Amino acid sequence: AVLAPNQSLAAFASAEGGSVIGATRAKADLSPLTDKRARLVALNLGPARSNVDFALVVPHVRNGKADYIVAILRPATLHDLVEIPGQHFMDNIFVISPAQGTFALTHVTTNVRTLVGSMPQSQQATAVTKPVLISDVDYRRAITYDLRDSQIVRVGPIAALPEWQVASVLPLAPAVLKARKGQLLQFVALIAFVFLIGLLASRMSKKASKILRRVSQSAADLTQFEAGQPASDQIFIEEVSEISGTIAIAAASFGRERGALASYQRRLNSIAQHAPIIVYAVDVANGEGTDMTYVSPSLEQMLGYSTAEGLTEKWWSSSIHPDDYDYCMAAFRHLEPGKVYAAEYRLRHKNGSYVWVYDTLSVEPTAQGAEQEAVGIIMDISERKASEDQLLQSDKMASLGRMISGTAHELNQPLNFIKMAASNLRENAVRGRLDAEKFIPKLENVLAQVERASAILLQMRIFGRTSKEAPSAINIQHTVEAAILMAEPQMELDGTQLITEVKASDIYVRALPVMLEQVLLNLFINANDAIHSRHDVGDSAEGEIKITIDRNERSAVIIVADNGPGIPPDVLPKIFEPFFTTKPPKEGTGLGLSISYGIIRDMGGVLRAKSSRKGARFIIELPLADATAIEAA
Ligand code: ADP
Repeated sequence: AVLAPNQSLAAFASAEGGSVIGATRAKADLSPLTDKRARLVALNLGPARSNVDFALVVPHVRNGKADYIVAILRPATLHDLVEIPGQHFMDNIFVISPAQGTFALTHVTTNVRTLVGSMPQSQQATAVTKPVLISDVDYRRAITYDLRDSQIVRVGPIAALPEWQVASVLPLAPAVLKARKGQLLQFVALIAFVFLIGLLASRMSKKASKILRRVSQSAADLTQFEAGQPASDQIFIEEVSEISGTIAIAAASFGRERGALASYQRRLNSIAQHAPIIVYAVDVANGEGTDMTYVSPSLEQMLGYSTAEGLTEKWWSSSIHPDDYDYCMAAFRHLEPGKVYAAEYRLRHKNGSYVWVYDTLSVEPTAQGAEQEAVGIIMDISERKASEDQLLQSDKMASLGRMISGTAHELNQPLNFIKMAASNLRENAVRGRLDAEKFIPKLENVLAQVERASAILLQMRIFGRTSKEAPSAINIQHTVEAAILMAEPQMELDGTQLITEVKASDIYVRALPVMLEQVLLNLFINANDAIHSRHDVGDSAEGEIKITIDRNERSAVIIVADNGPGIPPDVLPKIFEPFFTTKPPKEGTGLGLSISYGIIRDMGGVLRAKSSRKGARFIIELPLADATAIEAA
């Protein structure tokens, strides 16, 4: 339902046969609706308060006019959005649309509480249990996506408004981040420890039972010997019975230890079976993993294979997605004791589809030296990947949207030129005055313009696709050029100059070109916006964005510097936070830098920002690709 311009919420509710609850508060909140905040209001849309609904009211521009979208939320949906046991989420909920921007929800926690409190008990029950959403996305398994020191929980579309997404953000304290890293290590170490104990104990108990069998055999022989020799020495008999007593005690103690071992094993099996992860062990020889010696039964749940199938030779290496194979092999090469290795890649499910997994492995030093075993866990991360892709795509679309007027302008020029050339040609043809010498250069000019226009369009088309390729060694200069090709028309239109300085050439990094282009475009758009804000306050010095390509010992370095007003010291620490923006809704989503930060981090690099009175500088450092990868490129 959409509010008519100038229609009050109360009028809207009454047109739907209901009324606004908590009227004074909600009304006051709703006028004037000129700022960018979305609001959560309580509505009664049914007769006689039998039907309490909450609505999300989002400012929305339609045909150039301000207007509002009212999405009715079920009470349980509301609950699912605003509360997580033990945490209050209200301050951190956003609704986002690539076209309209990001809207923070207003704080209405106490308001909502009072309203829910004023419902009849039976309704309260349905208002706070069973998280059912108006969208068909299953939110019960919260999707988390790490963005520097925050996580976005539950990204997903609103069913009635397909281009809108709802996201809540939860800050992660640095201590939590550190602890989480530590936890994973501890977890791997714990599992490795339990395995080792198990292994050791079973070897010991095998050895011990062999000894016991031998001793009891000798005891039996001795008894026989005694029976045949009635006059044998009394002391000797006593000794034998003493030995057999000791044997009995030892046997009982071994029995107990075996029991403890069995219960250990049961516990381990239970962990392996019920945790939503696969636990495995591999033999390691000369730093390379060889055969899997154990894989937990949860393999079947996650990937459809039985444990016997998982243990067959080459099962793992042949199940890796071909595009991820080289990366994966490189990640698990040169295994050294005491180190932790990890990679994100795709594994083939028995049904043929691929599942995104996070695989982490640590090698345990053993007493025997040469013989080593690695223990690892595999987690299913496909949901996280899907939500990451959604965010990346929405940021890309927002960037393309920001460049559309420049591109349209760029395409219009050759079109005008072609139009003039064509009409000129036609006129001369009609008059029978075709002079090829004069026209060929003109036509060549037309062709050159068409080629440039189609190069821009092709680059935008490639950029706009959701990419499924694998990273490879790329020449960063080419990527910088591709990003400039896309951004240049808009920058020209805005009077901003893009200058490139190549201090070192032929620098290769391992990356997906489109991802790096996305980062560069975000930086260019931000720089251009910053320059504009300086123009807005009357400073008309020419805008300039300088891109420097360089390298140091281990990294490729790309610097994007602008001569805008710089970043104020109170803003600087926040710019990489998701949804942080100082721009009006249609210009900023607040996602650009946090996504760029994530992209660069995933490539093993760092993205940093510096600011001075001369402007802002963003520095990208990426590890150089190794020689073999460059040869393949
Ligand atoms: P958005 O551009 O949508 O606001 P970003 O995450 O890309 O989101 O940027 C966050 C904020 O960082 C911007 O709103 C702006 O205040 C600041 N910022 C980013 N780049 C620059 C720059 N080159 N100069 C000044 N401020 C910048």
